[in-house]
Amino acid sequence: MDIDSGLKERIQQAGLPLEVEPMVKATGCSGLCENGPIVRFLPDDLCYYKVKPGDVDEVFEKTVLNKQEIDRLMHREPEQRNRVRTREENSFYKKQFRIALRNTGEIDPFSIQDYMERGGYSAAKKALKMTPEEILTEIEGSGLRGRGGAGFPTGRKWRQCAGIGRYPKYTICNGDEGDPGAFMDRCILEGDPHSIIEGMLIGSLAIGANSGYLYIRNEYGLAVRTMEEAICQAREKGFLGKNIFGSGYEFHLQIVKGGGAFVCGESTALMASIEGNTGEPRAKYIRSVERGLWGQPTLLNNVETWANIPEIINRGGSWFSSIGTEKSKGTKVFSLVGKVKNNGLVEVPMGITLRELIFEIGGGIIGGRRFKAVQTGGPSGGCIPQELLDMKVDFDSLEAADSMMGSGGMIVMDERTCMVDTARYYINFLSEESCGKCVPCREGLRRMLEVLDGITEGKGSEEDLELLIWLGSMMKEAALCGLGKSAPNPVLSTIKYFRQEYLSHIRDQR
Ligand code: SF4
Repeated sequence: MDIDSGLKERIQQAGLPLEVEPMVKATGCSGLCENGPIVRFLPDDLCYYKVKPGDVDEVFEKTVLNKQEIDRLMHREPEQRNRVRTREENSFYKKQFRIALRNTGEIDPFSIQDYMERGGYSAAKKALKMTPEEILTEIEGSGLRGRGGAGFPTGRKWRQCAGIGRYPKYTICNGDEGDPGAFMDRCILEGDPHSIIEGMLIGSLAIGANSGYLYIRNEYGLAVRTMEEAICQAREKGFLGKNIFGSGYEFHLQIVKGGGAFVCGESTALMASIEGNTGEPRAKYIRSVERGLWGQPTLLNNVETWANIPEIINRGGSWFSSIGTEKSKGTKVFSLVGKVKNNGLVEVPMGITLRELIFEIGGGIIGGRRFKAVQTGGPSGGCIPQELLDMKVDFDSLEAADSMMGSGGMIVMDERTCMVDTARYYINFLSEESCGKCVPCREGLRRMLEVLDGITEGKGSEEDLELLIWLGSMMKEAALCGLGKSAPNPVLSTIKYFRQEYLSHIRDQR
């Protein structure tokens, strides 16, 4: 029996008032995956961590039957309470600021009622009374940049698409999250599906689209199921379909499941895949806002971007732009994983430092070991060394450090990690995932992998490093899509910051 069913059963057995029972609900991820499953009691905000089904009796008796236990527990120092903490006491949550994750871990994702009780769909109702120009002005004023990787200004993209007078138009949500170690989109899809539907509805109103597609990777079974149920509920409540809330506006949404190709996270490959064609990128001399899905104007954003939209409409673009840095507004969701104590999902204001993220929110390195590097931006991101731990996390700072924001993967490595092996691992992954359409990426990655194999097998030379740098710069210049252009980052950044490690591999073999 799962934990929430166990608690419900115990409440019924104890003959407690019936109204207590519906208050037990399963939510999506509340972020601190490392300590899950978590049972949280409100309004005291008391959290039990690492709860197993066999712990239900103890948790129930201490916290529900004997309420004084809460007072007794809360008078002790947090360290003396074993698995019990309030969120406020937990350093993991202290520096977080939740906009895209405002509802995950708070609501039952299978209940539209729960979503609406927290203000859900109020932004859509507001947007239905606004003109497209008013919606565009709010999104532009927010300074929101796409959270899928490239960081293109969202408002500018929306205006470009709105300005094209060809119909039909389409909106797409990119939920094809394929980066190793990344689960930002997955948690929002599974934990707060209506925020995505509401965001897409608002975007479609702004550009004049009546159809939208949710592209979700097939491996995300629960996310697909959650979104399917949410779409049904939104239809029943009149937020999808014909004549939405009596406005005369029509919007339909359907799910397309991705087949597991990493390259289908690239926007044009994703659109080809929806059309039923091979998921390969195309050259972007014609932008997809002009000619995207089936050659029609198409607005594509990723899951996190869409999830931010209702809050921007409700609270205003200027509110959103007051958070973050001058050029990177708002917050960013990261999956913080690897050798850090608090593995989990975090949302922080742009401009927070890597040190705050890893050592305060993340709780530092497991086993008291030394920090070595953090890779940001997924498999094509760079590895950032200790000297840059006080760097601000924003689009421009990460690029200046030869890495990137990407969609928000963040993998922490400790002193035992070999950076040459790390670079080789990512180049191997990208070489397998390259679609092979263009020579610089297809051949460049193969050659890079050969050279790295040589170095790790004890057959490398110092000239190999110059060859890797040349190959990397050629790929950045000439590859067709973002995958190939960013693929050299793990190699280039590790040569830049950890050259000595490459040299040790080469010299030690002699
Ligand atoms: Fe395919 Fe790589 Fe070229 Fe992109 S850069 S089109 S993934 S071969």
